[in-house]
Amino acid sequence: PHASNTILYLDGVSVSFDGFKALNDLSLYVEEGELRAIIGPNGAGKTTMMDVITGKTRPDKGDVIFNGGVDLTQLDEAAIANLGIGRKFQKPTVFENHTVFDNLELALKGHRRPQSSLFFRLSGEQQYRINEVLGIIALTDVHMMQAGSLSHGQKQWLEIGMLLMQDPDLLLVDEPVAGMTDAETEATAVLLKDIAKTRSVVVVEHDMVFVKSLDCRVNVLHEGSVLAEGSLDVVQQNEQVIEVYLGR
Ligand code: ADP
Repeated sequence: PHASNTILYLDGVSVSFDGFKALNDLSLYVEEGELRAIIGPNGAGKTTMMDVITGKTRPDKGDVIFNGGVDLTQLDEAAIANLGIGRKFQKPTVFENHTVFDNLELALKGHRRPQSSLFFRLSGEQQYRINEVLGIIALTDVHMMQAGSLSHGQKQWLEIGMLLMQDPDLLLVDEPVAGMTDAETEATAVLLKDIAKTRSVVVVEHDMVFVKSLDCRVNVLHEGSVLAEGSLDVVQQNEQVIEVYLGR
């Protein structure tokens, strides 16, 4: 049973690798328009959870229900992406030899690699959409710069912008602030909170200062299932969570 405003519902998901349970009866809900952080020690199953949602890994057991009806476990990666799920991996993959603007244009047109013949005139609507996303990711001032000359943080934001060009309902973000400066980390929290005003965002992250600044509901994963859920302050006081993080 799940509320009609649940965008993502993992129901008893299990994944084994050679008998080792990476996910063990994992269940969690994400509401529409919610920003959610997933934390947990190394090996807890965070990456495997993202892989199951995006169809990269098929679970042995359980369902992954998207937008109140579709079971993602029955679909391949391309079909899942087309349903409106975007995933940002840790390492940014922007087209370094193209401008920021052209990167967004390529993403808008759904091209996986640049070809000069693909840069045609844009419709007013397309131009508007690109400018809108440039504003959201705070790269308007550098939109004519080569992506390769951006800072690490700016490249991460550009990649998030490229995902936004496809207008996903759910954005999955893997350790976005790894390698960022403090200022970039703060700006990324503002950006993700802004994005979550119009869509759902799930962030896997290790940086607790960053997670704190997201000011959102948190799931602590441990040994492939949810150990605790709540605000960061609440889960950090959970005895089991403390034990898991300090090690036994
Ligand atoms: P996290 O992202 O929380 O660090 P992972 O989801 O990457 O955790 O991994 C969970 C567990 O599953 C780890 O013990 C890892 O070694 C194992 N694992 C993940 N992917 C594979 C795989 N393709 N083959 C074998 N074991 C894997």
